[in-house]
Amino acid sequence: MSPEKTEQLYSAFPGLYRGKDKIPQESLMYQGFECDDGWFDLIWKLSAGIENAARIEGLDPDGDGWPEATQVKQKFGALRFYIRNASDEIRILIGEAVEASEKICEICGAPGSRDINNRRNVKTVCADHALDSPRQSEHGSMPVWKLLKD
Ligand SMILES: [Zn+2]
Repeated sequence: MSPEKTEQLYSAFPGLYRGKDKIPQESLMYQGFECDDGWFDLIWKLSAGIENAARIEGLDPDGDGWPEATQVKQKFGALRFYIRNASDEIRILIGEAVEASEKICEICGAPGSRDINNRRNVKTVCADHALDSPRQSEHGSMPVWKLLKD
């Protein structure tokens, strides 16, 4: 995720993301959000939902018992959200967000589906950002048709 959007999440939810300044043995949040910007809204809503649930449970936002994300990333095209101090209700919210991530383009946030290319990369993307489309190639690899033409 871009540094700007990462900073927005860190400053809006300082309690949930307090692991960002911790050593790797304690938290992997120092790596930031290991996914593309298309999931920003999804992660924002999930973060707000988690902190809201913790408030309703009567937890202290400055206490050690407040929920703490330890790693947020994409794996096999879906969101992975690892957390400490999560109630059953919070785990349900995370499960819903993971399910939603399987239908949201990780690059732009439009409706998407899981795509797999011949290098076995897996990503949830919209039609415009399909893994081997010319537009996706702007983000990295070069499509075969271009190699043949050149
Ligand atoms: Zn897209």
